[in-house]
Amino acid sequence: MKVNAYAAQNATTTLAPVDIQRRDRGKHDVEIDILYCGVCHSDLHTVRNEWESTTYPCIPGHEIIGRVVNVGAQANKFKKGDIVGVGCMVDACLTCANCKKDLEQFCEKGMTWTYNSPDKLMGGMTFGGYSESIVVDKAFVLKIPKHLDLASAAPLLCAGITTYSPLRRNHVRKGQKVGIVGLGGLGHVGVKLAKAFGAHVVVFTTSPSKVEDALRLGADEVVISTNADEMKPHLNSFHFILDTVSAQHDINAYLVLLGRDGNLTQVGVPAKPLSLNVGSLVFGQRSLSGSLIGGIKETQEMLDFCGKHNITADIELIPIQNINEAYDRLVKSDVKYRFVIDMASLQPAL
Ligand code: NAP
Ligand code: ZN
Repeated sequence: MKVNAYAAQNATTTLAPVDIQRRDRGKHDVEIDILYCGVCHSDLHTVRNEWESTTYPCIPGHEIIGRVVNVGAQANKFKKGDIVGVGCMVDACLTCANCKKDLEQFCEKGMTWTYNSPDKLMGGMTFGGYSESIVVDKAFVLKIPKHLDLASAAPLLCAGITTYSPLRRNHVRKGQKVGIVGLGGLGHVGVKLAKAFGAHVVVFTTSPSKVEDALRLGADEVVISTNADEMKPHLNSFHFILDTVSAQHDINAYLVLLGRDGNLTQVGVPAKPLSLNVGSLVFGQRSLSGSLIGGIKETQEMLDFCGKHNITADIELIPIQNINEAYDRLVKSDVKYRFVIDMASLQPAL
């Protein structure tokens, strides 16, 4: 099936229209017309080959919301007309120890990313959500709570699960002081979730223009992280800090804010290594962890939680023709707080 899409042909040129081939629907597959696709900073890291792992052409997009247009014979838990989501993964073995624990992101045979991943069925690489439609195994298709605004719910498919999973794993709850570093796509959803879990939430931002918004989004306190006088009163006081920053920054400045046994979990993936002052861990037996999205079961749990608590992203809806400008703004931290592409704007390639 030929489908319209937007692709990067190399690391330096802008994204532009192309047409691509989607596989014929198999018996386990759900065929989805894409309505909205969120723009994650990982799309930008990948398109610009900042992680040095991109194969071109690259069609990003892993915050997909769409309408089911057809289902395979064994995919009848979905039906034509259903509103569904697809996140960062589209395949995994589902039989290894990690898959059996609902941690498909750590599939021992290697999961298939929604884009820029070897496509085990079609050959070549997978193509993501900056496109008209997608065909996905039912095991990787999520149900979207009915009353959520669809465009604003799209970012939950990556930003939502990537923040929900470490907050839950670290039992963030009432009575805890929790920091969120970076108020971008992930960070602003993280604030809403940590608040919904009952924590006292402190946002660390480099952007003074985001202070008011941070409070509106639910933060109890906001700290301009470049101001040492604002950082100092928070030394040794946090239970948990979630670091969503996409670029080089000093993680030691946050580690020392943790109390005894506190944990800082890194979800941002800057292209270059960060330096670690081991003393910031040793004093206070603090720990530093990473976290990668979340499994499908937990993603559905997150969506249902967001449905119940009416949590979605604050978005700027853009036509796909504005995607290159949106990337330039992401680099400048000028995002309030997630760009979402209205896929109705997609036109056929000439
Ligand atoms: P984003 O919307 O661009 O937000 C990143 C935020 O980090 C910015 O808004 C800014 O917040 C802060 N920031 C940027 N440059 C900075 C710098 N030089 N120093 C300090 N702070 C800076 O990005 P996103 O989509 O939320 O993604 C964030 C990161 O998470 C990316 O690296 C992405 O690849 C990664 N990611 C990881 C996973 C995972 O599973 N681990 C999943 C999705 C994304 P302020 O303006 O508030 O300072
Ligand atoms: Zn993402």
